[in-house]
Amino acid sequence: MRRPDARIHGGIPARGALALAVLGVCVAACSDAPRSLRGAWQNARHRQHPGRLPVHPDTMPDANPERLPGEVDDDPLPGRAGGADTPHTVVLVVLDTVRADHTSACGYDRPTTPTLTALAAEDGATLRCGAVAPATWTLPTHATLFTGVMPEEHGLLRKGQRLDPRHTTLAEQFGARGYATALFSANPVLNEATGLQRGMDHAESPPRLVSPLRGPALAEHVGTWLDTVPERDVFLTVNVFDAHDPYPPIAAGHPFLPEQPVVTLPTQQRQSTHPFWVFLRGELPASRQEAWLATLTNGYDHGVERADRRLSELLEALAMRGRDAHLRLAVTSDHGEHLGEHGLLRHDGPPWETVARVPLVTWQTGEAVAPLPGPEAAPVSLVALTPWLLDGVWPSPMPTPRSMSIRYAGRVPELPFETAVGLWEGSQDKLLWRESAGAQRFDLGSDPGERRPAQPRVDEAARLASAAARVQRARDAAMDEDADPTLSRLLSELGYVDGAEE
Ligand SMILES: [Zn+2]
Repeated sequence: MRRPDARIHGGIPARGALALAVLGVCVAACSDAPRSLRGAWQNARHRQHPGRLPVHPDTMPDANPERLPGEVDDDPLPGRAGGADTPHTVVLVVLDTVRADHTSACGYDRPTTPTLTALAAEDGATLRCGAVAPATWTLPTHATLFTGVMPEEHGLLRKGQRLDPRHTTLAEQFGARGYATALFSANPVLNEATGLQRGMDHAESPPRLVSPLRGPALAEHVGTWLDTVPERDVFLTVNVFDAHDPYPPIAAGHPFLPEQPVVTLPTQQRQSTHPFWVFLRGELPASRQEAWLATLTNGYDHGVERADRRLSELLEALAMRGRDAHLRLAVTSDHGEHLGEHGLLRHDGPPWETVARVPLVTWQTGEAVAPLPGPEAAPVSLVALTPWLLDGVWPSPMPTPRSMSIRYAGRVPELPFETAVGLWEGSQDKLLWRESAGAQRFDLGSDPGERRPAQPRVDEAARLASAAARVQRARDAAMDEDADPTLSRLLSELGYVDGAEE
């Protein structure tokens, strides 16, 4: 994969580099950031680092007419300058629904992620564009990130379940070490009812698809909390939800996207004649498909761009408080997004590359960096991230990347829910088992779109069968559990499930 141009930040010492990375990106890309912060960035840019910062040709107007309904700004809060002896800070940022190949950090031809690109170019940072999400939707992937075990083991696979108490969370482990812990999630799936907030001293997860946390308020809320624990070591988890549907409207004059209204995908209207359903049924005429999918992709790309702005604002909130002096930071995603490939939309469903491959940037300052082992293009499982966040070390050997999905009881035929398992072996070989198609093998080097399946070898088929059996057992166990009605309703509203179980 392409490495971002390291010359952009060449020679900047690790300490304090985060502030400079943020400054450079936000001058161009954070036009909807609070005015006071933006002014500070611009002043600092001219004073400290003229002419060497990445420039993103973003000319979005300050009035920000592209807001989603319910999205508002809070008043920005003043930060405090970081001191030399700041405490340790561990941060996990999940850019929800961001697929690797739609980030400019990973070579996408639209400049969607200038912040991620700049961050990846910092000394001590590692970029992986082939990170593999352990599942293809929010709940199981976050449960894996929080516990360090794969979905088949933690079993949090469907609506209404609660994380088994036998699994210790990262927040509980950091809490036992004296860290202050917090979760800020604009994705309402990370609700208290899931058990994923266990160990968090502070948690914010509004029960709505569109909330103020889906915007600049996210970083402001994080900053407010950081100001309550200025002397403490901190473990912080932030879910950035801006790339998730509904895809935001694009204002006139956007530098690389056409003006268009919000794109809402009506997942609850099964019999709808909306193109979302017509496409999933395979009935959208070819003459309409191209334009509709282009609109979908434009809206999604704008969501990714906005998620990157949220990242920039978060980095600034950390830097303003000196939290970049001793920082261990991971930025990744929980799954990608189908944009029509394989006849699919949104996420969930079989772990095709579009929905399983996510970006990963790790960065550590103030102490020795443990480099992510393996070649840059190699797939890497996100389950490896948990011990790194905890102790700064990667597992040895690194786990074989795999991903999965399950078929829900009472499924809607048009929704892409089916039990499936993907295994990545080496940098090019992918094995995929699906209920509907059985075992298949793909050469991602010659067939990155996964259009030409081959027959797996006997040993490959055996490994797939073993992995599929584990997922099926976990699925059956999950189906036997009683669902929490509150969480079930919430997840149904998000379109993850069909509601037929209720
Ligand atoms: Zn998600």
